[in-house]
Amino acid sequence: MENIIIIGTGCAGFTAAIYTGRANLAPLILSGDQPGGQLTTTTEVENFPGFPKGIMGPDLMMNMQAQAERFGARIEYTRVESVEKSPAGHFVIRSQDGQVREAKAVIVATGASPRHLGLPNEKALIGHGLTSCATCDGAFYRDVPVCVIGGGDSACEEANFLTRFASTVYLIHRRDSLRASKIMAERALANPKIKPIWDSTVVEYLTDEKGEMRAVTLENLKTGQRSELELKCVFVAIGHVPNAGFLGELVARDENGYILQEGGTRTRTEGLFAAGDVADHVYRQAITAAGQGCAAALEAERYLADIGHGS
Ligand code: NAP
Repeated sequence: MENIIIIGTGCAGFTAAIYTGRANLAPLILSGDQPGGQLTTTTEVENFPGFPKGIMGPDLMMNMQAQAERFGARIEYTRVESVEKSPAGHFVIRSQDGQVREAKAVIVATGASPRHLGLPNEKALIGHGLTSCATCDGAFYRDVPVCVIGGGDSACEEANFLTRFASTVYLIHRRDSLRASKIMAERALANPKIKPIWDSTVVEYLTDEKGEMRAVTLENLKTGQRSELELKCVFVAIGHVPNAGFLGELVARDENGYILQEGGTRTRTEGLFAAGDVADHVYRQAITAAGQGCAAALEAERYLADIGHGS
């Protein structure tokens, strides 16, 4: 029986591992499908405190992993398929590798996956002119045209943010009115650098000889007409999907599937804590996820002390 199993290896999961490792709890981390989490899909991270010259996303995650391992954390590479609480009060965790593990406490830090359009070369273009994070990547696209796909608050927020850098921000939406809140929509539409393209969707990404984004093929969904639009980066903002489905009834969720925390990082199941983007659709930053990972570790530590984890 493990003291604690941490599910997820993004900023929240590794930070929780560093703290629980230093508390001598010998945490076991289960990696998930994307070891290192969302930051492994980005290039330079300029806004994580402590790195005045920036740091590459994958390097930051490898550093976090090494720091967690230094304090006794172990990592196993598998995807968790279900978590149940036994009548005796401990957790039973089943994973893709067929193993069944048990733990006295669990921290869920499985993040959220950006929703994509599902076009054929989409995955290969991530980091090469396709991203879901304007805060992370916007500054790389100065004085060039870019687009944002989506019509919600995220799309409007990202489009506004990108006008600091880009020459033009096309806002491509599949309908003729935005889903975003009135204030966000009005702000976006009033910005002279933002050019909305209504009733349209991207049906093809076009690349240059280096494999970088060069243009997109647009389709007008009302007329069926196709056209090419030159740009250097596509920011996909059609929502995120929190990776919380495997928890069944152990957690309460909001209408978008994000785990509802009940005071700090506690969930409605005692001994089960949630940290980072799986429970946060507001901030979604590496540093806020790391902060929640720390909080979850401290709360789990207290929980284990209360139930007498040595027994
Ligand atoms: P969202 O509100 O679900 O909006 C997603 C947008 O993407 C919608 O406009 C949707 O179009 C479009 N879309 C979805 N699937 C698509 C597809 N396959 N192809 C093309 N377009 C597609 O997601 P969000 O903007 O990420 O916001 C999520 C939550 O966070 C919301 O509750 C939002 O209010 C909140 N949020 C708040 C703030 C803020 O207040 N500062 C900032 C960001 C997010 P349709 O409109 O046609 O469905």
